[in-house]
Amino acid sequence: MIQATIEARETEKTVMKKEPPASASLKAAEKKPKNKKTLTEEKNGSAKETRATEAVEKAAETEITEEANFHFKLKDDGSVEITGYSGNKSEIIIPSRINGHTVTGIGRSAFSGNVNLHSITIPNSVTSIGGWAFNDCNKLLKVNIPNHLSAIGEWAFHNCYSITSIIIPDGVTSIHEDAFSGCINLNEIHIPDSVTSIGDNAFKGCTSLTDVNIPDNVTSIGNSAFARCRKLISFHIPERVTIITQSVFYECTSLAGIYIPDGITSIEKEAFAECTSLTSIHIPEGVTSIGDRAFYHCYSMSSVYLPDGITSIGAGAFENCSSLSSVNIPDSVTSISYSTFSGIQSYYHSLTIFAKLGSATDRCMRGSVNMSYPKDDIEKLTVWKQKGLCTYCGGSFSLFNKKMCKKCGKKNYY
Ligand SMILES: [Zn+2]
Repeated sequence: MIQATIEARETEKTVMKKEPPASASLKAAEKKPKNKKTLTEEKNGSAKETRATEAVEKAAETEITEEANFHFKLKDDGSVEITGYSGNKSEIIIPSRINGHTVTGIGRSAFSGNVNLHSITIPNSVTSIGGWAFNDCNKLLKVNIPNHLSAIGEWAFHNCYSITSIIIPDGVTSIHEDAFSGCINLNEIHIPDSVTSIGDNAFKGCTSLTDVNIPDNVTSIGNSAFARCRKLISFHIPERVTIITQSVFYECTSLAGIYIPDGITSIEKEAFAECTSLTSIHIPEGVTSIGDRAFYHCYSMSSVYLPDGITSIGAGAFENCSSLSSVNIPDSVTSISYSTFSGIQSYYHSLTIFAKLGSATDRCMRGSVNMSYPKDDIEKLTVWKQKGLCTYCGGSFSLFNKKMCKKCGKKNYY
């Protein structure tokens, strides 16, 4: 990694400088067309490019001028990648060609930390935006994403506080980790149908985002991808997603309802923790595990449906869900923690767990919450009690071993 960076720096060239005139490079190029360096041996014509906006169109015609202060490197394929910028303009138009070479990439960290930058126009010749490209450009308000991009690099727009709207063009398949995390004013994002994966933390902390449309082709949404999107009201999980990942909606405090599609098999740790507006959750058949603290502190949630087929429910999964008054735990659950429903019972509020007598849930919860059993089980329980047998399993006790059930090993507390 380090080596690659050093190599990049060594091959980097700076387009020189002199005294930077006030005029934008675009204007200079328009006014003095004769000064344009037009290297025509380029095979890669710009004719087939689709041009989204007028600005992009202009950028495509612009060539580098001496005062532009772009740093770049020549790639193996003969195209150019912008590696940095040493000017102080607030509006930058990236040229589509430099010294006759097509500009195809914005390199890693190329504009990272540039706090002068208000607007940038990227030509459609650019097919890649590297990691950290616009990281911490916290005044950046206007940016277009070029048409032929396939991925948005990791941390590419991290902490771009001023951006309010982003349109990701069709063709982009991946949004990498932290690509838009910390974009606190981002309130409109268009994700096209071509996107199949959304990386870890991709939109984490986008606290102005109220709504996001996730296309149906998305198969994976990374850990914490929408965590702390505190204004996010609703979310559609596409059908092809199979895992609700760790912390993906952590602290989405406005999220009032969410539909969990049938293909989901697991809900990971803290997936919905601190979703304090969530009122109910329907977990579909097919889900086999619910991770630790998955619904921790969802204190508005008054109803939970857990299907048969679930085998494990993690520690603290529903801890502090203080609106829950009853939960039905299917017989299929073999692993559950005594802390799964901690913090719900109080002097004023009780929780009833419906479970089968002697089930893992019963063994774990009995004594800490109100247990309710099917009618047959209740009759069994009564008989066992009367006969002085173990109330979990009906086994008998060894008198010499502190009344421990010989069958299940539980002490006879009840
Ligand atoms: Zn027993």
